[in-house]
Amino acid sequence: CGIVCVLGNESVAMPLVDALRRLEYRGYDSAGIATLEGGAIVRRRAEGKLVNLEAKLGQAPLKGTSGIGHTRWATHGKPTEDNAHPHATERVAVVHNGIIENFRELRDELSADGADFQSETDSEVIAHFVTRELEKGQSPIEAVQACLKRIRGAFSLGFLFAGEDDLIIGARLGPPLAVGYGNGAMFLGSDAIALGPLTNTFAYLEDGDSVVITRSTATIYDAGFNQVERPIQKAEISA
Ligand code: GLU
Repeated sequence: CGIVCVLGNESVAMPLVDALRRLEYRGYDSAGIATLEGGAIVRRRAEGKLVNLEAKLGQAPLKGTSGIGHTRWATHGKPTEDNAHPHATERVAVVHNGIIENFRELRDELSADGADFQSETDSEVIAHFVTRELEKGQSPIEAVQACLKRIRGAFSLGFLFAGEDDLIIGARLGPPLAVGYGNGAMFLGSDAIALGPLTNTFAYLEDGDSVVITRSTATIYDAGFNQVERPIQKAEISA
């Protein structure tokens, strides 16, 4: 299982699928991507191998130049299309690797607040939590940090926001997440191997870190939400 995020200059659908293919060695049962079209979140998801997702993209291509992708190893909910990531509301899409231990409590709380759950996953609470914070008027990073304060468990996360074509937020606690620095492009990936064809310049997030990327900046915060620097390293990864 793995996650990849791309802020690029061309359609990101195929680069996302190619990067997910480089994470196949981790195992997965379903896959999906989300991009923006006219500022709105659009998704394609499929059970099984990445060829199934590619077939859907062949029938209904996505043109967005920012996006997030996921290969899932189901822990909560069967490996169906409805349970495949990204999970999304009108405001935010999220990819998640790991387990949210307190998802039942959060699901009950968010449902009572009117959230309409579409899947059986633990992960979907993250999309609804961040949406509730955005609707209170919080900024994307404030909304994500409020969510990070509440969720318990293990996670690597990538967030894409409706109407925000130059913004992706990532976070990790447990599973790894690397930032890839491109030329007028920025990437996140579960490991550097995933991003090998896209860049040779990486920073590795530490446990508890979150990161806000645009095409020209990567701003990293530690577990206490203080801005920090992580070493930027060069690594040549064979194709
Ligand atoms: N716990 C999440 C799910 O079952 C994420 C699994 C994963 O790491 O792929 O959907």
